[in-house]
Amino acid sequence: MWNSSWREKTWSELDQSWDIIIIGGGITGAGLLRLASSAGYKTLLVEGKDFSSGTSSRSSKLVHGGFRYLYNKQYEVTRESVREREWLLSEAEELVNPLPFLLANYEQYHVKNIELWLGVVIYDLFASKWKHKRYSREKILRDYPKLNPDGLMMGCRYEDANVDDSRLVVRVLREAVREGGTALNYARAIDLLQDNSGKVHGILLKDTSVQNGREIELKSRIVINASGPWTDEVRGHIGAPNRLRKLRGSHLVFPYEKFPMDTALTLFHPKDKRAMFVIPWEGTTLVGTTDIDHPAEFEQQYSEPFATREEVGYLLDAVKMMFPDLRLELDDILSSFSGLRPVVRSGAATPSKESRAHAIWLEKGLLTVTGGKLTTFRIMAEQTMNTAAAYLGRAPLERKRFFNKLPDLPACDELDPQTGVYLLGRYGIEIRNLIETARPGELQKISPLPNVWAELRWAAREEAVHHLDDLLLRRVRLGLLLPEGGTELLPAIRSIVQPELGWCDERWEEEERRYRQIWKMYYAPVPDASC
Ligand code: FAD
Repeated sequence: MWNSSWREKTWSELDQSWDIIIIGGGITGAGLLRLASSAGYKTLLVEGKDFSSGTSSRSSKLVHGGFRYLYNKQYEVTRESVREREWLLSEAEELVNPLPFLLANYEQYHVKNIELWLGVVIYDLFASKWKHKRYSREKILRDYPKLNPDGLMMGCRYEDANVDDSRLVVRVLREAVREGGTALNYARAIDLLQDNSGKVHGILLKDTSVQNGREIELKSRIVINASGPWTDEVRGHIGAPNRLRKLRGSHLVFPYEKFPMDTALTLFHPKDKRAMFVIPWEGTTLVGTTDIDHPAEFEQQYSEPFATREEVGYLLDAVKMMFPDLRLELDDILSSFSGLRPVVRSGAATPSKESRAHAIWLEKGLLTVTGGKLTTFRIMAEQTMNTAAAYLGRAPLERKRFFNKLPDLPACDELDPQTGVYLLGRYGIEIRNLIETARPGELQKISPLPNVWAELRWAAREEAVHHLDDLLLRRVRLGLLLPEGGTELLPAIRSIVQPELGWCDERWEEEERRYRQIWKMYYAPVPDASC
């Protein structure tokens, strides 16, 4: 689908009139492409960098209602989200998996136990399920022996879900392309085309896969702006005023041996009582997140967001206070990552009080969808597509199955069944092709991760990898999950992917240099950019 000749071929076929052009290859754009393609619209999605490289690879990896939104009285956001969580658990099974949470209550929080209990009850009622349990102080300390006992009163267990956010985007995109959609990464909409009345009727697209890349004007009946935190930049081309507040959220990643967590934990930062998560993910433990305004100067100076030294300290402080016996220090952190929340500005004083609801605006023929959450991407896509349909004089969409049904797991001696199921969720109906691509030994795990070597070959061959960081930070998350961004494995990775990507030695070395630099600058435990 996205093999070595695909990029050139796609560029050579771009000059046609499209029904819909979508700007942005995060989860919002991917969801839109999926619905638009299956409704028969001739649709093109363009992504200025790599697919999911914006916020959609930098989330907390949760498919959740957002328990803390209940406390901010954002009931509708929570209700909608838990329902979508249930849908994702059933339709995107094995990619979206149930995740038990403990919400521990401490005297220092000044929250009554009954309030906590009511919260989890409402949470479950919204989803029409009954999974919550009350945990006594003794039970909590038995299950979480390293948790700080000082002031601990009781806890509530409830259930959410988690996902590999980047893989969710790629799976949705690839299923959309199978339905007839076109998606192109490293292609940036640098301007909007407007007719004499000012109405948007296309984009000026620039090839960002090379320096001084080609440009082309593309016509479309409607343009949808799904550019996440960069929504205002795109709207700026038609003179629309800014409406977004970019809020940065950062995470730390710890190795399981240093910070063993088998279920997730919701806690409140001991210093400012902000809600935080500790989450088991892909054999590591994530701690996040911060929630602070992202200054414009950072964006001008740096190509990616990163956790500042203060944020790393803030998150580490919470872990040290909540798990003092683990004696975690900076040296124990594997990596950090940071993303920008596209939040519609409401004037709230503190970032965490801003609503996470999504918004849809139709301005001069430019349809914008922004805000919201990874969890609610289908609802955002449906509402946006129905607005687009009305604009184009077409009937509203009929809701049908969104994800392709998973096939049976192909019989394969080399693959252990648990890994097979893991791959099934990530690759869906393409699992057979992935297995067929594997050379001997490549269905073994990349220890200690759940991933197998064949995923690297498959991604290099088939998943629109243009830079090494696309492969190691997003298609397979080695850069986040292994010490030093997995650089020790680069020789082994090179032997698999260099021939697949058709890179000469010089290109490989340049890509390796670039990857090491990006990792140190933006993903190291204390990113160089913050020093
Ligand atoms: P993005 O993923 O940012 O995609 C927009 C894309 O548009 C980018 O890839 C960008 O490169 C591209 N683009 C921009 N301008 C142009 C242009 N001119 N031309 C072409 N392309 C362009 N939600 C949850 O449900 N669960 C969570 O656990 C969760 N945790 C989060 C934690 C953090 C720290 C943050 C920041 C957010 C979290 N969210 C979570 C929210 C969720 O991640 C976002 O709402 C979602 O990923 C936004 O997706 P998007 O597609 O709208 O934006």
